[in-house]
Amino acid sequence: MLTSLINAGRELLIQPQCPICQSTISSHTETSKPCKNCRLQLDLPSSGLIGLNPLNWRALGWYDGNLRRLLLNLRRSKKHSTMHALAELLNPLVPINAVLVPIPSWKNLSRANPLPQLLATYLKLPCHSLLIRRHATVGQHHLDRQLRLKNQLDAFKAVPGQINEKIDWSRHRAWIVDDILTTGATAQAAQTTLQTSGIPVGGLVCLARTPLRQLPGTGRPHTVI
Ligand SMILES: [Zn+2]
Repeated sequence: MLTSLINAGRELLIQPQCPICQSTISSHTETSKPCKNCRLQLDLPSSGLIGLNPLNWRALGWYDGNLRRLLLNLRRSKKHSTMHALAELLNPLVPINAVLVPIPSWKNLSRANPLPQLLATYLKLPCHSLLIRRHATVGQHHLDRQLRLKNQLDAFKAVPGQINEKIDWSRHRAWIVDDILTTGATAQAAQTTLQTSGIPVGGLVCLARTPLRQLPGTGRPHTVI
């Protein structure tokens, strides 16, 4: 009797929960991922989004609605369990030979966007900070694609020396990590910098892509079901 009560108590204590909404879920194997309801609410395609424009990219979903709200909150809260859960969904989309290169923030540490580094930390692949900001670029929200490209020109330089020399680039590809893909100007600047330093770039992995209706002329990606 006592044993069964203790076991029941244990069951209650270790009842698995969704890392995002904290609702109870039935399967222990899924505890590191968002629950079905969260995936539905966040409008996440079952196998993410993949596109080739303006570079090879992978994302969890569109930067819109509840996913946009969640990511805006995440920038402030830096909630590790939520990022871990999102990274678990993103992991299968990133090639196994990827070396992750997070986009560095140009703002000082207290105001920096923590998400690229946080995401790279939770993706299960080697990660190296091979990029540094050459100078502060101005905020891009109000700029169109051409101005964004100009704004990002020479934004980065590759970290010289030991780390990249230790990586066998004939077998690996750098994958740039950012939180949101908008026009791709930042990612393209990072890609150009890495390639100029002899580092082959596979593409960009991010949490969300700005809806294409807000980006005229960027081409349609496909959703992998
Ligand atoms: Zn949930």
